[in-house]
Amino acid sequence: MAAYVCTRFCINKSKDSIRFIQRRFRVKTKWAATRPKFPATELALHNFDTSYSIQLRDLWPSIRVAMLCEQKYGALINSFSSAPNDSTTSHRASTELQSSISPDIKCLVFPKGDISRFKPAGPDSSGILGYYLLDAASVLPVLALDVQAGHTVLDLCAAPGGKTLALLQTHSVNYLWANDLSGSRTMRLRRTLQSYLPKEFLDENKIHITSTDGRQLGMTEEKSFDRVLVDVPCTTDRHSAMVEENNIFKRSRTKERQKLPLLQTQLLLAGIQATRRGGKVVYSTCSLSQLQNECVVQQAISLAQQELGITVQVQDLRWFAQRFSDTFHFAPQLSVGELVLPHLCANFGPIYMCKLQRMN
Ligand code: SAM
Repeated sequence: MAAYVCTRFCINKSKDSIRFIQRRFRVKTKWAATRPKFPATELALHNFDTSYSIQLRDLWPSIRVAMLCEQKYGALINSFSSAPNDSTTSHRASTELQSSISPDIKCLVFPKGDISRFKPAGPDSSGILGYYLLDAASVLPVLALDVQAGHTVLDLCAAPGGKTLALLQTHSVNYLWANDLSGSRTMRLRRTLQSYLPKEFLDENKIHITSTDGRQLGMTEEKSFDRVLVDVPCTTDRHSAMVEENNIFKRSRTKERQKLPLLQTQLLLAGIQATRRGGKVVYSTCSLSQLQNECVVQQAISLAQQELGITVQVQDLRWFAQRFSDTFHFAPQLSVGELVLPHLCANFGPIYMCKLQRMN
């Protein structure tokens, strides 16, 4: 009898638990049916496969492979540090990025096909780090900006500060305004500059750091700068294909992602507005997307004319790309600007850049 009771109890219990599991399962199934959970990296790759196979045609499969492999870095030499540069290389020699355009900006890279890594940078006796590791292609927009002695420069979206640091290596900047909307990223920018620049240099008040919406600086700082760098937020293709954290392809960020081309156009317009007559603007992204690259540039040029009465001319960067063709792979024939394509033998980028001159 006791055994019978026990069996009934067990059967009831197991029925209950089956019912319980079924109820939970039903809820989960419904939730999952309306909102499938895919990793953001998978969503990014799906999006890239759809758009880039049309945009880049036969080039896309090899770019895709390269983007999913380890990225190559460059070592931006910090001329403010006396740390010996021979510590950059572990055993094989690295070569210097051909930089006759701005001889003060020195970036070491390993030759094509060589996937050696740089060691982490060490400090000099004052604690100033000897070099900054970054995608070497991201130095190109700074070189294209062509900062000359005495220039005032605006870095509109500056954090975490790799390009700001490259701009300062020219030793030509008379005044640099580095801005970024994000407070926490601006803190990172400050920390970067503190680790790479002597305190006396920071105290000279040549560098102004703010955390504000760059779109407002167009009006408030109209015609103020000789050079403006507009390194906009974008889909950061390589990061989005590889890393879940802070991925713009997360479903919760869909609207933000869809609004990127609008934000990018507004930021570029602000950059154009803040430039002096005859001054230059470089627009850059780390995306392959035509919508975020050439389309944004063309839209900003026509809006600058129509809405602000500002005439802007695109500057030819073909010669510039040719000068760096030993190190980087460039996309063939874009309507405006130049694009570094990731390649297994030179796994830098993607980096898009377009240079504009304000005519009036
Ligand atoms: N130039 C930086 C470098 O080389 O280290 C990278 C800049 S990152 C591609 C784009 C930056 O734009 C992000 O740090 C982001 O916080 C900032 N940003 C986004 N919206 C902005 C806005 N409306 N105004 C200014 N900065 C903005």
